[in-house]
Amino acid sequence: MIEIVFRYDPDNPPNLDDPADAAEARLLLEEGNRAFAELFDNGDPAKPSKPRVLPFDPSDWGVSGIEGRPPAQEPFAAVLGCADARVPIEIVFEQGCNDLFVVRVAGNVMGSECLGSLSYASHHFAKTIKLTVVLGHLHCGAVTAAVDAYLDPAHYLALAPDYPLRTIVDRIIPAVRAAALALESTRGAGVTATPGYREALIEASVIVNAAWNAFSLQQEIAGRGHQMAVVFGVYDLVSRYVRLPLHTEAARDRGLHPAPATNDEFWELALRTARGEFVGHLLANT
Ligand SMILES: [Zn+2]
Repeated sequence: MIEIVFRYDPDNPPNLDDPADAAEARLLLEEGNRAFAELFDNGDPAKPSKPRVLPFDPSDWGVSGIEGRPPAQEPFAAVLGCADARVPIEIVFEQGCNDLFVVRVAGNVMGSECLGSLSYASHHFAKTIKLTVVLGHLHCGAVTAAVDAYLDPAHYLALAPDYPLRTIVDRIIPAVRAAALALESTRGAGVTATPGYREALIEASVIVNAAWNAFSLQQEIAGRGHQMAVVFGVYDLVSRYVRLPLHTEAARDRGLHPAPATNDEFWELALRTARGEFVGHLLANT
């Protein structure tokens, strides 16, 4: 049995201090994700196991606060994630109410509304938000649509009359192009004829797209005169780890990573992704 329990004991109230800085915030998210991923690693789900107990502060739900007044909004991190139903951000990071300021959109792309929301958060919750996260995920439908449009222009033409959907795909295409160039740079032009090329390009694009949006977001925030650490990661639907998928063994790559700070760092990440064991495995096995 797998059981997750939210618990508040008034006789033993939890010590839920917010993280003091970006490093603590990142550690809290990484530890939360590890606990979530490992929750399912106890073998047979039919076997009884200890419930996972998550302490919470009822004042975050407006309970036991000042009567008639809502709780103050106090997230310690902002997250830009995909709208995919399999990637519930608070659960993936094992966080509760009032912990995360979450913006979700297909492909975790940074359109003006998303940027406006994150900009609002960085300005209005500057005292509590210590970190901004861009979270992509493997097997992303939006990235898959962008890769198919990139590989087959006829597929893109089918999107032509659907402006809202095309807007999302258009925002992902630069990351797909970067991933494709990195694959050809590291593995030769013949890589495009490999049977697993489409699958490898999809997952490489997921990684590059998350890094690209983290890079762009950092530039945007800095351009507005705010200071905010930006990191990125990719949620693996199979291992449940947030990771940078460079190896086939998910546990080796788990955790969040600093946004590329320069064009060179971004390109270096694309090359590392393309030459990585994870992408190589997809090229060889699909
Ligand atoms: Zn997605």
